[in-house]
Amino acid sequence: MKRLLITIDGPSGAGKTTVSRRLAERLGYTYVDTGALYRAVALIALSEGCAPDDDTRLAEICRHLVLRFENSSKGPRLYATCLPVGMDGDDITERIRTPEIAMFASAVSARSVVREYLLGVQREMGKGGCVIFEGRDMGTVVFPKADIKFYLDADLDTRALRRYEELAARHAGAGLAEVREAMKKRDEDDSGRAIAPLRPANDAIRIDSMCLEIEQVVEAILLHIRAQAK
Ligand code: C5P
Repeated sequence: MKRLLITIDGPSGAGKTTVSRRLAERLGYTYVDTGALYRAVALIALSEGCAPDDDTRLAEICRHLVLRFENSSKGPRLYATCLPVGMDGDDITERIRTPEIAMFASAVSARSVVREYLLGVQREMGKGGCVIFEGRDMGTVVFPKADIKFYLDADLDTRALRRYEELAARHAGAGLAEVREAMKKRDEDDSGRAIAPLRPANDAIRIDSMCLEIEQVVEAILLHIRAQAK
């Protein structure tokens, strides 16, 4: 089978993470959650009191930042080194998973200094293939020549309910209306920004996950991948 580079883009709560992880397991591929990279920049900026539009300080953070994923029995973990802020291979996997970091990540992701830095990081991770990249601009900007591209979507109510249930399971209890509003704002910002906005690539296979179970989405994607890999 060919060593494919696969991209999965879409709005938050569309099921990209679960689908990508299961696909990576089934194919024996590496899975890269690119949202986690933006969240890492946001975590440092926020903890340093850096405004999300302070390009000089964001550039300084990026210049010193080294991000590394490592697999563990509990899934991929993200480690960050940024010596000026006292980070030296810190495991930030859990710390980046808060609603506050999600919103801040969306804000810093609109800055070209951040996107340019992460573009290089992501392309480096894609060398050699056998990778599934999950994000917002994987098929449009980062890997326009990816072997196969997917765009996963579902309506806002379905996505908000999924995210609400996910947070409730972690006892991170925000109300459904609050989760829905935050998601709506983040998607509007991500779709409306000038650089690398969230949108399907022209050659992406679009899948609406609204009426499908996660496993059905995985099977549908695998059919396309197998056809492509022959
Ligand atoms: O996917 P996740 O919710 O972790 O992403 C956090 C934020 O990072 C998104 O709302 C988006 O603004 C940004 N992001 C991006 N491009 C990507 C992945 C994430 O702009 N490829």
